[in-house]
Amino acid sequence: MHLGPGLRVRERLRAVPAWPVWQHPRWLVAYIGIVVGGYALAIVVTGVLMPVPPHELLLFGGLLLCSAVTVELTRRVGENAGFISHIFGVWELPVAILLSPVLALLVPILRVVLTQLRVRKVPVHRRVFSTAVIGLSFGAASLGFHAVAHGLGLTPGPDLHGSWWVLAVAAAAVVQWAVNLALVLPAIKGSDPAVRLRETVMTREVAQNDLAELCVAVLVTFAISVSALTIVFALPFVTLLQRSLRHGQLVNASRIDSKTGLLNAGTWEREAAAEVARAVRTSTPLALALVDIDHFKTVNDAYGHLAGDKALKAIARTFRIFLREYDLVGRFGGEEFAVLLPHTKALDAYGIAERIREHIAETPLDVADFPEQGLVRVTVSMGVAALGAHWDTTTGGQLTDLLAAADRALYQAKRAGRDQVCVITDNTVVTAPSQVSHLEPA
Ligand code: GH3
Ligand code: MG
Ligand code: MG
Repeated sequence: MHLGPGLRVRERLRAVPAWPVWQHPRWLVAYIGIVVGGYALAIVVTGVLMPVPPHELLLFGGLLLCSAVTVELTRRVGENAGFISHIFGVWELPVAILLSPVLALLVPILRVVLTQLRVRKVPVHRRVFSTAVIGLSFGAASLGFHAVAHGLGLTPGPDLHGSWWVLAVAAAAVVQWAVNLALVLPAIKGSDPAVRLRETVMTREVAQNDLAELCVAVLVTFAISVSALTIVFALPFVTLLQRSLRHGQLVNASRIDSKTGLLNAGTWEREAAAEVARAVRTSTPLALALVDIDHFKTVNDAYGHLAGDKALKAIARTFRIFLREYDLVGRFGGEEFAVLLPHTKALDAYGIAERIREHIAETPLDVADFPEQGLVRVTVSMGVAALGAHWDTTTGGQLTDLLAAADRALYQAKRAGRDQVCVITDNTVVTAPSQVSHLEPA
């Protein structure tokens, strides 16, 4: 539909209350406003006080082009949804060091817009906020560097004097990194108070990425200060680096079942096989549980598949609450899970399985989209098998044997009426804990 300009403005204004930014706490909205406002003000003030000499625009254009090409060439690798590591600092640090401060403030705009249009759409306020944070951090680095380098009369070169220049560039890069982190942390914490910074922002992987980016950025800045033509030679290398950073994130993601956040079936099996082999070798106890949601089809039929997915997620969360860090929990099939419990005897495994089963049966799940649909109760059946004295450890198929045994116990639990745990040790299926203790090998 074609709207006149006046109408279009009014339509836009009417959409303002629906902007996702208002879902944040009020202090966070104010914080975002202050950062973005400060950014706009900084652009105006530095632009007026330190105007850009026209000859700088050529190099600025060249670096922007490199930024755009980097977005485009790494587009298929995508942008991960968590804390984002990237390599654009390599093109942005030279702007902060070699060109006017206002250009350092402006430099992230193009690549953020391109990322939004070409890689991944997120709510616009998040992109505006990131632009402001990145721009302010490079602006601070630029102002700091210009003050110090001009004050001390530093220039790049092959001598000791040139080394001081390189150190000043590295210091500016550290300032940029620190300002960026300081501005972004309140927003990360404010938009999700449950987020653990040590697991997202302050991991070793992120630190390594940041360090790699910083070092290459200093190198490229030095090279460009000698000859602008070096950006042509830096470009393929930087693109490669960007891909390798993403590679680490993708390897992590490929272990995980995206729907539940548990290990996926292949990873679970590989890691479980190693655990079972270790337990057999060292004669330590180990148990395995297979879990299947009861009549899950009816949950899907009654509430839809999206509600079913929410139930799967809720049950995956229950496992994480009840199990230890070294237990392996995987999504084995559609609504089936596999749990490996190292250092656990049959009786203890039964106790753990019972607690989980009971919790799931007693906790109604909020899976519906509409409140009037109410809460949903689901139950699970479990089959538990434990390494016993009579397992044949010479055939090598130990995990397969345990899985087959647990599967038989699960089948028994289903047949006996569901919502229960069956245990199998030494090829005997039992259900009551007293029997389990009876069977426990001495
Ligand atoms: P029971 O195990 O108690 O015998 O009954 P059931 O209905 O759970 O068993 P069945 O194996 O016949 O059906 C499993 C259902 O799980 C069918 C399928 O629609 C559903 N399912 C499997 N994977 C997913 C998934 O990822 N999301 C959702 N929503 N449903 C799934
Ligand atoms: Mg099933
Ligand atoms: Mg089922």
